[in-house]
Amino acid sequence: MVDQYRASRTAAAIDDVVIVGGGLAGLFCALKLAPRPVTVITAAPIGEGASSAWAQGGIAAAVGEGDSIDSHVADTLSAGAGLVDENIARLMAGEGPARIADLLRYGVPFDRDLAGHFLLSREAAHSARRIVHVKGDRAGAAIMHALIATVRNTPSIRVLEGLKLDELYTDGRRVTGLRVIPADGGAPLDLRARAVVLATGGIGGLYAVTTNPREARGEGLAAGARAGALVADAEFVQFHPTALNVGRDPAPLATEALRGEGATLVNGKGERFMQALHPDAELAPRDVVARGVFAEIAAGRGAFLDARGVEKLAERFPTVYAAATGAGIEPLKEPMPIAPAAHYHMGGLLTDANGRTSLDRLWAAGEVASTGAHGANRLASNSLLEAIVFAARIAADIKSLLPQPQVSALPASMPDLFAASGAGAGEEAELRALMQSSVGVIRTGAGLAHALGEIAHIERNAPSGGLRNMAAAALLIAASAFARTESRGGHFRSDFPKPDPAQAARSFITLNDAHAIAARANAKAA
Ligand SMILES: Cc1cc2nc3c(=O)[nH]c(=O)nc-3n(C[C@H](O)[C@H](O)[C@H](O)COP(=O)(O)OP(=O)(O)OC[C@H]3O[C@@H](n4cnc5c(N)ncnc54)[C@H](O)[C@@H]3O)c2cc1C
Repeated sequence: MVDQYRASRTAAAIDDVVIVGGGLAGLFCALKLAPRPVTVITAAPIGEGASSAWAQGGIAAAVGEGDSIDSHVADTLSAGAGLVDENIARLMAGEGPARIADLLRYGVPFDRDLAGHFLLSREAAHSARRIVHVKGDRAGAAIMHALIATVRNTPSIRVLEGLKLDELYTDGRRVTGLRVIPADGGAPLDLRARAVVLATGGIGGLYAVTTNPREARGEGLAAGARAGALVADAEFVQFHPTALNVGRDPAPLATEALRGEGATLVNGKGERFMQALHPDAELAPRDVVARGVFAEIAAGRGAFLDARGVEKLAERFPTVYAAATGAGIEPLKEPMPIAPAAHYHMGGLLTDANGRTSLDRLWAAGEVASTGAHGANRLASNSLLEAIVFAARIAADIKSLLPQPQVSALPASMPDLFAASGAGAGEEAELRALMQSSVGVIRTGAGLAHALGEIAHIERNAPSGGLRNMAAAALLIAASAFARTESRGGHFRSDFPKPDPAQAARSFITLNDAHAIAARANAKAA
């Protein structure tokens, strides 16, 4: 397909809309734009390399009897620790039910009772049962399966798989195209576009222990930031408290829904430890649980998820069950070893209510974006919701801003930015270990200053390609974490363990700012 595409184009051809990323946000946006022609670029074949396909819990939406948009908004605000943009949260919760209806139309087989009502589960920090799901913990796989089939049957959507975004092209503040690199190492390809939508997912792969697929390495975030786009709330990374600690990379996830169904957290002595840390115990906000788990492990007591009391575990949670038994653990008979893992990025490219970034003609959807819906901490299962709500809004915005689809010629030639990078796995592993140890669950000023120096060094020595973008994304996160001298939501500084009301605001940073912070931190440490 890529070769056909290459052959079919003249050097000056211009795509109308290019979407980078084939997860839920990218595919949903493409479907909402249909029948307008769209090119979707993905690093991995669609369905692979996307967190969307791995989601277990489901999608939060106020569709249950007795539930309300107000209650969903209130829970979102409370999880976000003072930094949620209420208007955005209200938009997201309010449009959720209509987007769930869209998914039903695209063929997603949400679990329903005989009367057709959704079967809803409850997750941490939700005051109601409001998670729509599929076959227990198969929501992500089932949603993606349905969407991919619909996309394949939509002639206006062209999918180019195995291409990695490397660089965005700009003309002043306007994005004009992008450079992609074939995953198989072939020649890079330049695409000109009237509209570019980044839907490249999260940043978990920047950390040594993560639940995210390999492709989630912050490269889209970095490409946007390198082009000059503003980044928001980059320091807020959510660590999933219950990744199965069975020596796999990425680490398999034991969904929160298990705790909703009564599974408990115990240490190696079989003692529950969350009751002493939070009134909601196992159902406390994720950051609290992650620190609780981290502390038990750090103290040498170990941390385990005891799901022996969960009814019909194997049938209702087949993914977790298979991951555990595949590693030789029988969850019906013994607690499963767990560890916190980098899971979700609340920060990302700053977007408005229509998904527009600070650069013209560049939109961002899904986890790569920071809409303000999550604040300092995401409420469970709000991310798939955010992905579909804002992907739909982006499609509508593109249609109204650029009403006529166009395929025309652009006179300007593209600068040659590509230089083959010999940077290898060694630096990548070094970067991931550094992020895990110094920019992880518990952070300190000294650790962050050290990390900033090392990351800046890695970035400087990576002339192009994935490592350079990974390092830029890591630098944005570490610099924002260094600058926030308080603890809030997913960001915990042991040298500033309390929230500081004076810092109760979202953070905004450019890549240039991050470089300046790294230089200052280095100078101070020297
Ligand atoms: C194990 C797990 C369980 C989860 N469970 C839930 C849940 O139950 N409910 C919930 O709401 N959220 C859940 N989340 C979070 C949620 O899945 C993600 O936030 C969401 O799927 C992100 O969707 P996305 O479309 O933005 O990104 P993704 O689905 O990750 O898709 C990103 C796409 O971009 C492509 N890509 C990446 N980099 C490049 C590049 N440089 N060039 C080209 N293409 C690129 C990838 O190949 C992929 O196609 C979970 C996450 C994980 C990891």
